[in-house]
Amino acid sequence: MGRIYLDYAATTPTHPEVVRIMLPYFSDAFGNPSSIYSYGWEAKEAIEEARTKVAEFMGARDQEIVFTSGGTEADNFALKGVAFANESRGNHIITSSIEHHAVIETCKYLERRGFNVTYVPVDEYGLVAPDNVRRAITDRTILISVMHANNEIGTIEPIAEIGKVAREAGIYFHTDAVQTAGHVPVDVNALGVDLLSISAHKLYGPKGVGALYIRKGTKLLPFIHGGEQEGGRRASTENVPGIVGFGKAVEVSQREMSREAERLTCLRDRLISGLLGRIDHSRLNGHPVTRLPNNVNISIDFVEGESMLLNLDLEGICASTGSACSSSSLEPSHVLLAMGLSPEQAHGSLRFSLGKWTTEEEIERVLDVLPGIVAKLRAMSPLLRR
Ligand code: PLP
Repeated sequence: MGRIYLDYAATTPTHPEVVRIMLPYFSDAFGNPSSIYSYGWEAKEAIEEARTKVAEFMGARDQEIVFTSGGTEADNFALKGVAFANESRGNHIITSSIEHHAVIETCKYLERRGFNVTYVPVDEYGLVAPDNVRRAITDRTILISVMHANNEIGTIEPIAEIGKVAREAGIYFHTDAVQTAGHVPVDVNALGVDLLSISAHKLYGPKGVGALYIRKGTKLLPFIHGGEQEGGRRASTENVPGIVGFGKAVEVSQREMSREAERLTCLRDRLISGLLGRIDHSRLNGHPVTRLPNNVNISIDFVEGESMLLNLDLEGICASTGSACSSSSLEPSHVLLAMGLSPEQAHGSLRFSLGKWTTEEEIERVLDVLPGIVAKLRAMSPLLRR
């Protein structure tokens, strides 16, 4: 068996149909969409076609989609754009304590710029209670941002209910749907959001492209200044091949989503029950039911996540200890700590994220290999001897 990739939440391979449709835009159809001759029009047309696909994918209108360089930029744009455009109305923002760094770090930046941010806590499953969001609202609140599903633990948040709270209070509502898009339906009206971030490379599209949905009438300032691209809302020559690939990726994912979600849920549940059954002192992190079809996050006592990862890698299995970004830091995951885990438990966690090319045999291989790795590490563990 070759290498086993179980880190689809970090990034996905680009779908062959996506690669195929992108290729001409690197060569024959290389024009700048702003040019007013045939090369330009061709590129412009391709972008608008992709915009329609992305808009349809989330139940939006074409004019409500702005292409960005990815999920991080979409999150920055939503938060900074709304904050700076609505400063005269208020300076208070509500978010959750388990957001991705793209939101958390942007909030910290805004705090340094004079905004106040409330980080609403989560319960032991990582769920944000809509009532806690309601209670955090003040007459200075201008924005609520709560992620659709968490990238580490896979818990899906009650976004439609929080959307109702935001609408009743007349407050803009943003959700980071980077991890849900392609796995569960993402419909801006069903969710009741004014702003929504997505990223192509999490749903078999290319890296370096994403989009921000901006509901018509939402007051926000552009934060990349320059030319008049994207209706004056996001300057810079468009990433034409990337955008075209993104359009194809959402089309493919729409076509395959429900079948894939069903298949992945079965594999996910097999992996969860197998691991919990074969490894004592282990527990599932995140909600057992309201979770992404492809996410498995478990804590295993008396072992370090990094050691397990290295040993898995020696067996050709690629997984993660948390988000891709925090894997390189030694800080325990802020998400697991916010759910009440101790730093030791947080350090002993592993995330497996499944995807289009994950097979039953691969899941069985993990179930065969990981218990032995844990037993070996525990035998040498200072954590166990303490
Ligand atoms: N938001 C979430 C929930 C994510 O999981 C990620 C990537 O891991 C991002 C934002 C950032 O997206 P990108 O890598 O496209 O900048």
